[in-house]
Amino acid sequence: MAMTITQRCLGCYACEQVCPNQAIEILAGIFTIIAELCQECIDDFSVPQCSAICPAEEAILDRHGYAVNPLGSLTGVPAEIRSRWMV
Ligand code: SF4
Ligand code: SF4
Repeated sequence: MAMTITQRCLGCYACEQVCPNQAIEILAGIFTIIAELCQECIDDFSVPQCSAICPAEEAILDRHGYAVNPLGSLTGVPAEIRSRWMV
């Protein structure tokens, strides 16, 4: 299993710089995690380095398909406030 990158990705290159396995591939501006190379950082760090540095909420999913940084987790904006402007 591996992490995955979603369309919420901002293309900032931060994850590509910190991945210990060089598992982040960039093709035509689209960032993708190569499943065969991603070990979820288990052997090297206590948390996945890509999601730890990622500035975008919902940009990286764990092996179960859940956002590692869900909506509100980085901004601190509560759901009731977000609901006013999200469609
Ligand atoms: S979880 Fe770790 S190994 Fe996998 S893509 Fe992210 S930084 Fe790389
Ligand atoms: S750190 Fe997050 S926003 Fe930046 S390129 Fe990686 S997935 Fe995209």
